[in-house]
Amino acid sequence: MIAEPDGPEGRLRRFATIWSRAVFPATSTSLTRPEFEELLLPLARRLSEALRARNFEAAEGKAVGAALVAAHCTDPDALTHTLECVDAYLVLYCGGDGSQEDLRIRSARLQHAMAAGFAQELRERTLAEQEAISVAALQAQGVVAQALHATEARFRAVFEGAAIGIGMADLDGNILQVNGALLRMFGINDQTMSGRNVREWTHPDDAPQTWTLYDELVRGEREHYHVEKAFYRPDGTVLWTNLTVSLLRDADGNPQYQLALMEDTTERRLLNLRLRYEATHDALTGLPNRTLFFERLEKALGAGNNQRFGLCYLDLDGFKTINDSLGHAAGDRLLVEVADRLQSCATAPGEMVARLGGDEFVALTTGPDTEREVDELAGRIMNALITPVSIDGRDLTVRGSIGIVEGPAGERGPAEVLRSADITMYRAKSAGGNRFELADPEADARVITRHGLTTALPAALDRNEFFIEYQPLVHLGDGTVHGAEALVRWLHPQHGVLGPDRFIPLAEHTGLIVPLGRWVLEQSVRQARAWRESYGDGVPLRINVNLSPCQLTHPGLVQDTVDILERTGVAPDALCLEVTESALIGADDDLLKPLRQLAEMGVDIALDDFGTGYSNLANLRRLPVSILKLDRSFTQSMQQFPADPVDLKIVEGIVSLAHSLNLTVTVEGVETGAQAEQLRILGCDTAQGWYYARPGPPDRLHDLALVDATG
Ligand code: C2E
Ligand code: MG
Ligand code: MG
Repeated sequence: MIAEPDGPEGRLRRFATIWSRAVFPATSTSLTRPEFEELLLPLARRLSEALRARNFEAAEGKAVGAALVAAHCTDPDALTHTLECVDAYLVLYCGGDGSQEDLRIRSARLQHAMAAGFAQELRERTLAEQEAISVAALQAQGVVAQALHATEARFRAVFEGAAIGIGMADLDGNILQVNGALLRMFGINDQTMSGRNVREWTHPDDAPQTWTLYDELVRGEREHYHVEKAFYRPDGTVLWTNLTVSLLRDADGNPQYQLALMEDTTERRLLNLRLRYEATHDALTGLPNRTLFFERLEKALGAGNNQRFGLCYLDLDGFKTINDSLGHAAGDRLLVEVADRLQSCATAPGEMVARLGGDEFVALTTGPDTEREVDELAGRIMNALITPVSIDGRDLTVRGSIGIVEGPAGERGPAEVLRSADITMYRAKSAGGNRFELADPEADARVITRHGLTTALPAALDRNEFFIEYQPLVHLGDGTVHGAEALVRWLHPQHGVLGPDRFIPLAEHTGLIVPLGRWVLEQSVRQARAWRESYGDGVPLRINVNLSPCQLTHPGLVQDTVDILERTGVAPDALCLEVTESALIGADDDLLKPLRQLAEMGVDIALDDFGTGYSNLANLRRLPVSILKLDRSFTQSMQQFPADPVDLKIVEGIVSLAHSLNLTVTVEGVETGAQAEQLRILGCDTAQGWYYARPGPPDRLHDLALVDATG
């Protein structure tokens, strides 16, 4: 493949070059640097693909780590340089245009896996090396005199030349011989080593079975064992090793010596700890992050009989205001201070504090007695927040709302517990904040979450859970009904009737708005025909249908509308499509084209919510719009008497401009007769609002219109 320097292939190549330059000096390869780069290129490709894969597999990182060992990058420095390089450049060169945050998390997980793969492969190599040395050692001892010299020499060579530490001791543990690598690992010279005994090397971190295995080996009951073991160096520092001990027998098969092979894993261990730390802690506050918190919560919820858990979910009150007014740096410092204070509230065993993100924190307590403890914990947290936080000489008052969930382990999963805590926290917030509330499972069940609604939406359309209410549009001049706006509702099986503001944004987000919008259009147009049939052409009732911005960009809009009108036999001029003003601000010709086509066919287009989107009045001329719907906020300001003269002037100005552009003006939200009269005087043409009728079933409109027609 020819690599375009700026294309993905070129970037991948650059990453491989940087990587090979960083690692080459630490390898024991016989390749040249460019050859080595060729070797790394496929590994770089695997990392790059893993980084962007649809389904992320950290195992790819493990394979690459193992491949490094196979490429003679066995020095711990090679791993360190590799991880530094991946950390700094992988996302930059191979990230594509994915979410930076996701990519960084993936990159960290890949590094983690690479370190693990590297370690595992190295251990397997060590075992293989040990095999070879054991064989040589056996030969050195077992073989008879004539060959003794040659084999000994061979053993010496392996012994001294090996990169791993090798030591030999008798069965009482007295050290007989060690090689240079082992001395370097311990940081001592030969004198201090000989004469020491293996049993002196206990360490508090020794795994329980370490010395049992040792005893079995020197008694001749096992041939070898493998453990991870720590040693104190003479200077007090700790050396971590992968230790393999083998029993050497004499020619008659009697146990004679023990042979220890050790590989220094100190650096790798530190690196692993650091990577693990970074992956589980919040960079700003140093608190455990969401990942670690979920691990702990999962463990607490999976604990055995009689174990309980208590969770405080804290969200600061008004943090956004601080952030917006004093800047992010001040916001960050506030969070750090809050984190410190929270940490000091949860110091007992079984307690932890974590930051979930933003200004959300959690405190967890576990054990048999959390019913009492969690209340105390919440109390301590509220107390800790009382003292103002001083930032740049300002004393900032910090308040928070806490949702508490407490209960027995083994009943609920972490997601459910966190959801309940979140809902409860919001309850505390809406009760005024600066307080804690206890979770109430019944209240939880009634709460409608965005997530719950979003997942239920698609089935709702299939199950016919949507219905339409109609709100009359009235002529301000003579009070006759001349049409209605269709407003969709959702009869949710659990939550009852939901208004469009609850679910239209979700439907837009998921794309369901297109089929839903088509359904609304079809139903409404059918309704318009039904009205015409029952009143005859004497009462030409029109139907207004709202269009979402997403529907505007959907290629099927014009065709769908034409089809529906033809199927129902309704004339285009009986239909008005309402488009919110903000969707048309700055709209280019491509976006306007379908609307223009519809307008040319005779469909009216109304600019909905006019006055909320700051559109340029002069711009109205280029829009295919024939009706302005003044937003409810204008009507609202006319509620007090006398109305604000400036508001009146503005409305008057808009109306006269609209009329000069041949636009009809409809006003929304008319709630009183006084408003209606005022708006009529200002020259508005049509009105809609509770004063005339609330949105309702189609036959209500029927009655209203009939009153007009007959009276
Ligand atoms: P909108 O198109 O501006 O609809 C007018 C809203 O004002 C309706 O709210 C209506 O019930 C309310 N309203 C009417 N008269 C009065 C009044 O006198 N006082 C007060 N305070 N309110 C009044 P609703 O039904 O909740 O609809 C909200 C919005 O949802 C609508 O605003 C529209 O943008 C959107 N919407 C409704 N149905 C559909 C639909 O089928 N498709 C799309 N895409 N959006 C829809
Ligand atoms: Mg509307
Ligand atoms: Mg409106």
